[in-house]
Amino acid sequence: MAILALESSCDETAAAICTPDGRLLASRIASQADIHRLYGGVVPEVASRNHILHVRPLVAEVLAEAGMQLGDIAAFAATSGPGLVSSLLIGTSMAKALAVAEKKPFLAVNHMEGHLLSPFMDENGPVSPSIALIVSGGHTMLVQVRSVGDYRLLGRTRDDAAGEAFDKVAKMIGLPYPGGPEIDKQARLGNPRAYAFPRSFLDGQSLEFSFSGLKTAVLYELPKLNLENATVLADVCASVQEAITEVLVEKLVLAARQTGETLVTVSGGVSCNRGLREKLTARCAKEGLTLLLARPDLCTDNAGMIAFAAAQRFSLGHTSPLEADVDPNLALV
Ligand code: ATP
Ligand code: FE
Ligand code: MG
Repeated sequence: MAILALESSCDETAAAICTPDGRLLASRIASQADIHRLYGGVVPEVASRNHILHVRPLVAEVLAEAGMQLGDIAAFAATSGPGLVSSLLIGTSMAKALAVAEKKPFLAVNHMEGHLLSPFMDENGPVSPSIALIVSGGHTMLVQVRSVGDYRLLGRTRDDAAGEAFDKVAKMIGLPYPGGPEIDKQARLGNPRAYAFPRSFLDGQSLEFSFSGLKTAVLYELPKLNLENATVLADVCASVQEAITEVLVEKLVLAARQTGETLVTVSGGVSCNRGLREKLTARCAKEGLTLLLARPDLCTDNAGMIAFAAAQRFSLGHTSPLEADVDPNLALV
């Protein structure tokens, strides 16, 4: 028996199957990045139309990959929010239809809980008391985790999310969408001290974030920059990445100190960032903190993390009514 989960909150259609104890048996993603790149961002109508095209074949693919039939699935899960309504509806409708047809339970999963729990995948579990830093395209949050479903918000961004900051700055300096991985690539060749971009709320004890000042600072610097020069471009990227990641690492350490937790986790698309992973590894070792990072392919949107979160919930006896609606603003805490 296994859990089959669908993820369609934004522009990635994904399906995955995991065991009840959370071991991933199959995972597939149909990315639409190449399509949305033409528009410089995600176009909701285009995203939902592509979800419709991809979702059914993906279900067949993960079943084949896991060597299973629909009858082997114990429960069907899907992301029910947060995200784009028209996108969320495709995954949840399909999962509900499969649940009805197979007479099996349905589970609505919070996309952010998927990210949050992803570092515990790959035998890194069980989910234990810890501090989670979630850094994605739409969210930047510090959460105290006591157990599955028992979360306390410690701090969040007041404006842009970390991933949004990467993407907006990338767009300003002419890099393609999505900008985060592009800045990461360029930053490897640049000097992180070349430009002193702002670090918000770094003094004091605040666990809040703000990244909009960084965007403005880059905007003011732009007229002075010759971005055709590869060194200048790399230096700007390295300095932007340094400003964002320094704040993320320091606030995570501060949250651990304030709560006395010694286990910290980092998840969400930005946790792919190589500079962030290096900085976290070094800093946590120095602070005596145990760090759990999700595998890079489980950092950005995928259905593996949704299947894992659903499996955690299902083993606690949770299921969702078929009437459960999608919620574009679904809160985690
Ligand atoms: P949310 O999960 O908040 O709803 P989302 O699902 O769009 O938003 P994710 O898929 O978790 O977000 O992450 C996408 C974000 O991660 C994008 O902003 C992207 O630029 C960023 N990102 C991906 N890889 C990297 C990287 N290597 N360096 C920096 N940022 C990255
Ligand atoms: Fe996400
Ligand atoms: Mg995405």
